[in-house]
Amino acid sequence: PRTRLPRVGTTIFTVMSQLAAEHGAVNLGQGFPDFPPPQRLVDALARAVSEGRNQYAPSTGIPALRQAIADKTLACYGRRVDADAEVTVTGGASEAIFDAVLALVHPGEEVIVLDPCYDCYEPAIELAGARAVHVPLDPADFSVDWQRVRDAISPRTRMLMVNSPHNPSGAMFGAADLAALRGILAGTDIVLLSDEVYEHIVFDGRRHESVLRDPELAARAVVVSSFGKTYHCTGWKIGYAIAPPALSAELRKVHQYNTFCSFTPAQWALAEMIRDEPGHHEGLGAFYQAKRDRFRRQLEGTRLRPLPVPGGYFQLVDYSAASDLSDVEFCRWLTVEKGVAAIPLSPFYQSPPAGQRLARLCFAKLESTLDAAIERLERL
Ligand code: PMP
Ligand code: GLN
Repeated sequence: PRTRLPRVGTTIFTVMSQLAAEHGAVNLGQGFPDFPPPQRLVDALARAVSEGRNQYAPSTGIPALRQAIADKTLACYGRRVDADAEVTVTGGASEAIFDAVLALVHPGEEVIVLDPCYDCYEPAIELAGARAVHVPLDPADFSVDWQRVRDAISPRTRMLMVNSPHNPSGAMFGAADLAALRGILAGTDIVLLSDEVYEHIVFDGRRHESVLRDPELAARAVVVSSFGKTYHCTGWKIGYAIAPPALSAELRKVHQYNTFCSFTPAQWALAEMIRDEPGHHEGLGAFYQAKRDRFRRQLEGTRLRPLPVPGGYFQLVDYSAASDLSDVEFCRWLTVEKGVAAIPLSPFYQSPPAGQRLARLCFAKLESTLDAAIERLERL
């Protein structure tokens, strides 16, 4: 058939999760916790259903959840946003990204993405009839070469997409990155799409440099996040977009005809959770840092070399001491023959660096899961 997405196959996350299931592998591939959300939140969801919160929510999200998001934004980033005009609840961060791109990017325009990047960005850009312009991150530490971003801007550039903490590398923006962004975007009408889904999973005392901290950037930005990451409920698919009223109004035009609204009971449950335990996200860095540190110590007993992880819940490993296979072949082999599923990095690139031997392991797992994986990885 004629196809809108000729270069798109099945996402690597589905491919590797299926392979893991087929071969009984420990699944450190697709990023999701294998432990439950906080009990308070689970109870609140059950109650929302039994109390009858089962019909359509307001399209933009229930007011209590939008207000909770606005309050958190003020507390975390010192930015006052209008819950009515600037906050939209969506079906995960994924829908927010699609809505933003489809609402704001015109056919023939360009969107700059930084490789490696999350795999849903480019299909959204293509469906908008636009073109993704790929700028590589520094392969040594996944930092941004802002001069290269500046050089990639053309009169057709409509949007720049950034992601910190970064999937797959865990790299994080510093204050200097926000300053560079400000300098590059000043005087243009480029929209900034900032994917901050791992905003609360940051380590070693680092501070998440949200675009929302910066008034100049926030004035041109759509910032997306996801409750899936913060509350261990990736399958609930509740995320949100924060954007100035004019940008939010456009994004909402797509949202209202794409899904109309997101799963109502979960919105009530999350609003209640945030009201009753507003500090939950403050403990998230320490919670995941303990997992990261333990996993990294365990990896020392393997032939996989762990790269630094400033934030997020993925550990990149260099496997060149264990294998010469390409990353896709290595991850298949690791899953099928060694019983540990991992995600190769090359699907996150337009042109992967030649000879790069990196795989991504998710450590948002129970200690018993990570122990089972390590036992197998020690035998590589
Ligand atoms: N952006 C990034 C960087 C992600 O890692 C993910 C989820 N893995 C998403 C967006 C999508 O989030 P959601 O599941 O809330 O749609
Ligand atoms: N974001 C998750 C990851 O990076 C995957 C989500 C998905 O399966 N689409 O692993």
